[in-house]
Amino acid sequence: MLTETESATIEALCRQLPQLGRFIANLDGSELLRQWPRELVLRAARTVLDRMREQIASSALTQNDLSFAIDHLEDSVAQEVLRSIQPSLRKVINATGVILQTNLGRAPLSEAAIQRIEQIARGYCNLELDLSTGERGRRDAHVESLILRVLTTRGSQPSGASIAATVVNNCAAATFLALNTLAEGGEVIVSRGELVEIGGGFRIPDILRKSGAILREVGTTNRTRLADYASAITPQTRLILRVHRSNFRMEGFAEQPDFRELIALGRRAAIPVFEDQGTGCVAPLEEFGIHDEANCARDASSGADLISASGDKLMGGPQCGILVGDLTIIERIRANPLARAFRVDKLTLAALEATLLAYFIGKEETIPTIAMLKISPEDLRRRCQALAEGLRGSSFETEIVSTRSLVGGGTTPGATLPSFALALRRPGATECEFTSSLRALDPPVIARVAQARVLLDLRTVAPDEDATLSRVLLQMESRR
Ligand SMILES: *Cc1c(COP(=O)(O)O)cnc(C)c1O
Repeated sequence: MLTETESATIEALCRQLPQLGRFIANLDGSELLRQWPRELVLRAARTVLDRMREQIASSALTQNDLSFAIDHLEDSVAQEVLRSIQPSLRKVINATGVILQTNLGRAPLSEAAIQRIEQIARGYCNLELDLSTGERGRRDAHVESLILRVLTTRGSQPSGASIAATVVNNCAAATFLALNTLAEGGEVIVSRGELVEIGGGFRIPDILRKSGAILREVGTTNRTRLADYASAITPQTRLILRVHRSNFRMEGFAEQPDFRELIALGRRAAIPVFEDQGTGCVAPLEEFGIHDEANCARDASSGADLISASGDKLMGGPQCGILVGDLTIIERIRANPLARAFRVDKLTLAALEATLLAYFIGKEETIPTIAMLKISPEDLRRRCQALAEGLRGSSFETEIVSTRSLVGGGTTPGATLPSFALALRRPGATECEFTSSLRALDPPVIARVAQARVLLDLRTVAPDEDATLSRVLLQMESRR
């Protein structure tokens, strides 16, 4: 409770604040109102005055400060106008060491992909125009042959004519579209060990139900055999579905049939086999010390009737969902009215084409996701050291620690990459306060907390961002 004198003081201070309407009227003809719409300035002025009232009420603004603040009110309002029109979607520095962080936008694009987006965004393009005939074309035609060449060995063979590919907005849409096209009103056989939730609300049983298909679960959580699939086939069966366990691992007494066996079973029973592959991994991860991870290119070359994969996971491209499979199946998918609802835009296609081309010409290290997988711990240690040296003399306590980076984004569960991080401490600040002030920087810095320390794992920081990181950390210092 405030005493009577305190209340009186607060009231007296508040009375000194100009009235909103009068303040705006006095701004007539000012630079502020020439530059910005009146409504925007009015809104900003209201915010500033409300804030001052709160500060007075909490005794954060005393008489001296108040006089100063009132004298500089116009500046404060101008600043508030700028703050209020700042973009909401902003560039951040990802120092978490998680390469495919869904919350941070997953895969950053390659320089080539960015340039292609820019070229295509700037004007018109032949999105749905066949330049040779002048007739209407398919938008997926721009990437189809590259998808086939990069993802399947079948694409390059004479029989490759019977395989095709299309692209939609994301892998969730691709999987849904496939289920709806191939199995609406019929049964889909799925192992109980694959009725998974991928994250962000994508649950296989729910997606299946929404697609109009009927789920036919087989096997048990840990073990499903080929015979379980075989005995579940009925005249109502439309599809055998395999779901890649992207974000968890099953260890111990676990078993599932080899993918090729499953495909052979489908062939014998004339039931298509569809794999929701998810990760879109093209590069062999063994090179980076990650073993037993599914490979999209391997699976797409295995003879499966249909595969769906993400463009912005391990492939390192734009957000999209890629469907590769039998020509007749892809044609049915293209003819589904939902394919129109899930179609990708020209910018996605431009970026995807550039990303696939990098694989095709053997320049996959130009794709940031691949470069981040590849970077050596020694390189990271050196960069941490340089960053620590730049902070010498500041109040930050620094230490270079060995750590493990994650691939993330619902891929390679449990797999980690050896890495180094700069562990930072700020005297007097808890980890929570510290990470929050890192997020308040421009650009915001997103760090990881481990063992009661704030870690900056430089694996996910582009080398040309090191200087920015150093600069904003020092700015934080000068604001103390
Ligand atoms: C990630 C993933 C999805 C969802 O992909 P989005 O591109 O995020 O829609 C679906 N299935 C599997 C197996 C996945 O790993």
